[in-house]
Amino acid sequence: MTHGFALPTTAPDRIGGLVAGKASSGGGVDLPVFYPGTGAQVTVLTEDGPEAVAEAVGAARRAFDAGPWPRLGTEARAAVLRTCQQVILDNADALARLECLNTGLVLRELRDRHVRRAAYNFGFFADFILQQAGARYDQADGYLTTVSLEPAGVAALIAPWNAPVALASMKVAAALAFGNTCVLKPSEQTPLAIARMVELLSEVLPEGVLNLVNGRGTVTGAALVADSRVDRVSFTGGTETGRHIMSAAGRNLTPCTMELGGKSANIIFASADLERALDGALLGIFSNNGQQCLAGSRILVERSIFDDFVGAFVERAGRIVVGDPMSDTTEIGPLASQAHMERVLSYVGIAEADGGTLLTGGARRADLGEGYYVSPTAVTAPSNDTRVAQEEIFGPFGTFLPFYTADEAAAMANATEFGLVAYVWSDHLPTVMSVTDRLRAGVLWVNTPMMRELRAPFGGYGASGVWREGGRACADFYTEAKTTTIPKTPPPLRPLGRA
Ligand code: NAD
Repeated sequence: MTHGFALPTTAPDRIGGLVAGKASSGGGVDLPVFYPGTGAQVTVLTEDGPEAVAEAVGAARRAFDAGPWPRLGTEARAAVLRTCQQVILDNADALARLECLNTGLVLRELRDRHVRRAAYNFGFFADFILQQAGARYDQADGYLTTVSLEPAGVAALIAPWNAPVALASMKVAAALAFGNTCVLKPSEQTPLAIARMVELLSEVLPEGVLNLVNGRGTVTGAALVADSRVDRVSFTGGTETGRHIMSAAGRNLTPCTMELGGKSANIIFASADLERALDGALLGIFSNNGQQCLAGSRILVERSIFDDFVGAFVERAGRIVVGDPMSDTTEIGPLASQAHMERVLSYVGIAEADGGTLLTGGARRADLGEGYYVSPTAVTAPSNDTRVAQEEIFGPFGTFLPFYTADEAAAMANATEFGLVAYVWSDHLPTVMSVTDRLRAGVLWVNTPMMRELRAPFGGYGASGVWREGGRACADFYTEAKTTTIPKTPPPLRPLGRA
């Protein structure tokens, strides 16, 4: 039986970039864009070649060097950011539908969480910059030294496909809030909602402040990162891509933030509220269709409760509703692309070849039609050294491993190249403290899944990232500190050559 799920919305016949408020000059190949819910092609993306990218950077450069944006006071800039927030909220339904058409993520989640977050990112930074202050040091010898934080310049912002609008808006809001101008490059797989968001924001922002280029990473993205007129590169995506981008940016000595992959441990102790931990473990690996950097994909469970916990998890996973992203009852939609679905499912064979056991799922839901639907999947692995315990699968695919002691749990959690987040579930405070002190991850969630506080830094250790995103970390990254020293009453200087 095949399903012809309806499309969430329609897309323009063709979409492309936006440079200083006008259509970019393109110049690259045509790229098809698909709806993962049915596999249907929904539009064509015009790729921006190196010349179009250079035009976009030029527009951002001019807007920075000569335009009003970096010179606006923070109150005026905050007011514009609030208008950006409102414009996104006013268009929430249309943006969520475009995002659904492009990602296959559940429409309800997109509307209630992703698009709201996109709007909130602008509101958050509007508030944040009003509190921003430099520093003043009155020195004992009569000198005054001040530190001012000035906009850094042109920011190149490169976003992934898994939560396009939510992640791209964070970068845009932060870069703009501190007075920068920017060129945004979304994933070539998911340009739709971002294109509309940029169109809407461009009507609010001065010309050239926000520019959009589209295309493949190796063409459009590479040209953007290599441009020596770019002052900051902010990247979210895979670890290997991050390595390429950072070395390309390094040639221009351009500072980077890298938000990269993860293989985060979800550590469940027998002393936890196990019902809550079970809800958290399911959310940790299956929300956002399992396609999230912060997924709790290595589920470490204390040996004494391992069999019962895994049994309960499998039972609940089997009841998760997979299907049409537009249905109010759907909990997991399709994966983002056919290639991605095939890659995720290939890990079932990889798990078994390494001695693991498939617990649930592991197959395409062909009964749902041509879309890329996969059953929620879980395996056990015989050791933390196996590929399913070490590699980021980036889908609804959890790997279970048992542990005996808190020491062993912390050691296993840390035994990976990544270090993005870690989850800990226990109601026994000494256990929580002993393990959280030792975990090498940028973000720890204790007895809760995925609670993001935008004032706090977010990012990872090791192969999960470089630098952080969030309040203060963004302020540091998107500004240059300028130190100025003035003598209040000029003291005599050492009289060289007067003797
Ligand atoms: P990806 O690395 O394939 O692509 C990310 C972006 O980089 C895309 O826009 C792509 O076109 C561009 N790109 C690729 N090669 C490039 C190059 N040489 N130069 C410049 N740009 C280039 O990642 P993806 O598959 O889109 O996203 C999934 C990955 O993102 C996962 O690894 C996930 O963990 C990670 N991610 C991390 C976070 C975080 O906050 N740490 C958040 C979301 C996703």
